[in-house]
Amino acid sequence: MATAIPCGNTVVTGLRPRLLSSLNTNKWRISQARVSTEIGALSFSSSSIFPPNLTHLLFNSWSPKIPCHHLARRLIVKAARDYYSILGVSKNASKSDIKSAYRKLARNYHPDVNKEAGAEQKFKEISEAYEVLSDDEKRSIYDRYGKDGFKGSTMDMGDFSNPFDLFSSLFDMDIRNRGARNMAADGEDLICNLVLTFKEAVFGVEKEIDVSRLDNCTTCDGSGAKPGTKAYTCTTCGGQGQVVSSSRTPLGVFQQVMTCSACSGTGETFTPCNKCGGDGRERKSKKISLKVPAGVDSGSRLRVRSEGNAGKRGGAPGDLFVVIEVIPDPVLKRDDTNILYTCKISYIDAILGTTVTVPTVDGSADLKIPAGVQPGTTLVMSKKGVPLLNKGKMRGDQLVRVQVEIPRQLSDEERRLVEELANLKKTKTLNGSRR
Ligand SMILES: [Zn+2]
Ligand SMILES: [Zn+2]
Repeated sequence: MATAIPCGNTVVTGLRPRLLSSLNTNKWRISQARVSTEIGALSFSSSSIFPPNLTHLLFNSWSPKIPCHHLARRLIVKAARDYYSILGVSKNASKSDIKSAYRKLARNYHPDVNKEAGAEQKFKEISEAYEVLSDDEKRSIYDRYGKDGFKGSTMDMGDFSNPFDLFSSLFDMDIRNRGARNMAADGEDLICNLVLTFKEAVFGVEKEIDVSRLDNCTTCDGSGAKPGTKAYTCTTCGGQGQVVSSSRTPLGVFQQVMTCSACSGTGETFTPCNKCGGDGRERKSKKISLKVPAGVDSGSRLRVRSEGNAGKRGGAPGDLFVVIEVIPDPVLKRDDTNILYTCKISYIDAILGTTVTVPTVDGSADLKIPAGVQPGTTLVMSKKGVPLLNKGKMRGDQLVRVQVEIPRQLSDEERRLVEELANLKKTKTLNGSRR
């Protein structure tokens, strides 16, 4: 199945990667990257469940690697302050007092807002206090037995929700790490190479390329579940998508919030599809017809939207990046939008002037060389160069460098004539100096 990609869908990015430009042996090249098009960095989407920085925060704050004096200080704070004083409310505060105290404090200490050291720890303390005091049952246990009341019960210390979930549920904010369910993951971008001839790159071409990529699994329709089976709540995390592990050390109880490995944070498990093994995607080859615009060069990148790997669980597909490589022409060299060519003429033609036939990308063309042309002169054949990318009919020039050939050997007749010419010149000079 071939899908036509309209030209407007492709974005050309102009910088040549170093690797490709080093392959280019064109000694005339003046500018390596003069194509004035969008410079696009390739991005590869990651599908981690926690953004890496957040994972780092979550783990570091409980990490036993933190030096002991640090931990001790933190524990003293914890031990000295009960949940009521953490929230700054009295023991008989109403539910709405507790809620408004939490909202005020949590907003000040949320790590997205407050970058001060210890803010995150404070935020967690606040959240923990709120979680207990906002729940009538937990609050009454806490009032009677303190934190010890939760030990060994179903509401162990490890039973606390993710403080960020608690926060976002109250503030209705899109915090990066929200509920773990329905973890859609975007598909990865793909990259492939396309080799063009010199003329194809200059004038543009339509090409069909075969791309091997991950597409939605046809057996399970992308769900990853074996057809006819139903997803059920993950027994490892109870549908939370996260597990909290507590470890008791002489310094106190430490908790780590981790993505549930059994369900990869989705909160659900299912019997995996036989075809794709639960990934929801299978490798398929697809023919994509690509309209390469005129004026591309080695290293240009075409971006074909949504033709990368399919997303997971409804995530957006990645993009396909096509990197152009151009086979050099034996005589015509490219310098951005100009084409460079060297023509050799005899010294006689240089003196008398001549017309030569020059190859161009449009075919052979006549070029008039004026009498008295100097070696190394560059003549401009205007608009015989490369069309400007995405600029309609504008074109660069062909620059013809004139190389004058001096014969290494002369026939007797030629020598006699040149000597005659030399004598003529001498006489002229003598006459001139006598005057
Ligand atoms: Zn499948
Ligand atoms: Zn799970």
